[in-house]
Amino acid sequence: MAQDELVFAPLGGIGEIGMNLSIYGFGDERRRQWLIVDCGVSFAAEEQLPGVDLILPDIRYLIEQRRNILGLVLTHGHEDHIGALIDLWPRLNVPLYATPFTAALFEAKRLSEPGAPQIPIKVVPLGGRLSLGPFAVEFINVAHSIPESNALAIRTPAGIVLHTGDWKIDPTPLIGPPTDAARLTALGDEGVLALIGDSTNAVRDGRSPSEADVAKSLAELIRTAPGRVAVTTFASHVGRIRAVADAARACEREVIVVGRAMERVTQVARETGYLDGVQDFRSMESYGYLPPDKVLALCTGSQGEPRAALARIAEDEHPEVTLAKGDRVIFSSRAIPGNEKAVTRIINGLVAQGVEVITDRTHLVHVSGHPRRDELRDMIGWVRPRILIPAHGEALHLAEHAELARRAGVPQVLVCRNGDLIRLAPGGAEIIDEVPSGRLYKDGALLVNAEARTVASRRRLSFAGIVTVALAVNDKGALLADPEIELFGIPETDAAGASMTEIARDAVEEAFESLPKPRRRDPDGVAESVRRAVRAAIAERWNKKPICHVHVLTV
Ligand SMILES: [Zn+2]
Ligand SMILES: [Zn+2]
Repeated sequence: MAQDELVFAPLGGIGEIGMNLSIYGFGDERRRQWLIVDCGVSFAAEEQLPGVDLILPDIRYLIEQRRNILGLVLTHGHEDHIGALIDLWPRLNVPLYATPFTAALFEAKRLSEPGAPQIPIKVVPLGGRLSLGPFAVEFINVAHSIPESNALAIRTPAGIVLHTGDWKIDPTPLIGPPTDAARLTALGDEGVLALIGDSTNAVRDGRSPSEADVAKSLAELIRTAPGRVAVTTFASHVGRIRAVADAARACEREVIVVGRAMERVTQVARETGYLDGVQDFRSMESYGYLPPDKVLALCTGSQGEPRAALARIAEDEHPEVTLAKGDRVIFSSRAIPGNEKAVTRIINGLVAQGVEVITDRTHLVHVSGHPRRDELRDMIGWVRPRILIPAHGEALHLAEHAELARRAGVPQVLVCRNGDLIRLAPGGAEIIDEVPSGRLYKDGALLVNAEARTVASRRRLSFAGIVTVALAVNDKGALLADPEIELFGIPETDAAGASMTEIARDAVEEAFESLPKPRRRDPDGVAESVRRAVRAAIAERWNKKPICHVHVLTV
């Protein structure tokens, strides 16, 4: 009889910060039962993937294994952990578990998307436990940049795995208790087989500042602002929202929430008690009636999203909220890689209006929610795992986390790739197989496979345009009419002023005439010769090869 094994496979989140999806399996190799952790998206930087908003993990392996999946557990409510659920959960239809805030936030998001399917979530209390077949899952509180981030202690007959999720150490996190060091240490005493851990900030030395330090600095900047103040941050960062609201109250400014995502989160945070004791926020209509030194706008758009509140304010296109010379905007955030240009554009728009812009380059107005190197060492010290697998990071972050873990004395450290199937027990950690993995693009209303040519050809199209050629050939192998040629996205003339359309036409005719008569009746052969000739002729003048489509009609 084959032996029961504990296995782990990341289907996303390795080699990238985003798209987190991990699976744990227990059983012998012919029949494993699975536990899924998180189901997130990545955001596509526009210039690389034109027309694509989101990147989702390819879950064809999970669809195939659907009957053996016991449940999907969410560590916390960030999009890189829950963002793919609305699209992908209906294909799995497995029990879904989350703590109260994460569940409420997800439900609010689902309701805001027209046509989103019903997705039932089973709510697990904070510090709660779940029993799913061979997996007993315990939720352990960790500090992060959203309420209710949880590390998961996953107990199995083959040992305990600690899946850290996103975390940091913050003695004064403003919302929720600090990272539960005592519980993590107790787990270490019990004996932890493997730690699968957040690597996002593994290149940064020292420790992260606390949310309380950021709150102090924000309060000072809000207190000393001469005119209106607008603060932008991640909509889900309720601790930061609370800090801003407290600072506003201290200097008698009314808080106005601008932007739908921010409205949604503040509503959920009030319902779940995370804004208890915080003053009511005012409606957007009151913005114009309040004196400049009595108002604070809390805006979405910290990542430069073009349709979000701040972008519209920066372009002076917001119907209710305007800013002018002497007002102050605070970016209580940092641009996620890929968004820097969009954020810079907004900052420039504001500065051009005479608005003072404050960012984390000069003031402590933001800290990351992920552990720096000393914090990573603390976690290893508490948990003392036998195996450590770096997760949630690009290649550099994973490598740095791995090196740090080795130096901290972790007996076995393994860096893996998405789709690797790793046996954690029995025996040491070892990559034993590969499972199907990959990426899907959310392209309008459809999900397309990243390997499909759709987006790649769209990108080529944006770089070098397209030529279409239509030819009608009669049964004697002669052209029935002049070829129809159209150019899109190609310069009209070459450096000498010759028409590119005419250059293409000459190439078409020359290529056609040079074919022996019998071959002119073969539409595929004609199309291929013409295509090559057109691309070569245009490339000679332009130094770029366009896409060329040739339609040959034989009559
Ligand atoms: Zn997170
Ligand atoms: Zn994350």
